[in-house]
Amino acid sequence: MMICPFCGEGPIYEAVVKENLETIYICAECDTVWKQIRQDTEVTNFANYMRKLKKAALWSELELISIV
Ligand SMILES: [Zn+2]
Repeated sequence: MMICPFCGEGPIYEAVVKENLETIYICAECDTVWKQIRQDTEVTNFANYMRKLKKAALWSELELISIV
């Protein structure tokens, strides 16, 4: 299991965003969002990500696949 490098707690879920069907990786504790599970990848957070889609930042907008 991967621990989130930002909050040190995790867990990180692989999830599909229902609105655009994009696969993202999201920390359950601090809502950090990665588009790829790589060190050098762009990082955002769930609120900002969903704001761009004009959707509420609710976990119900996600289909959880698995814990990374
Ligand atoms: Zn975190």
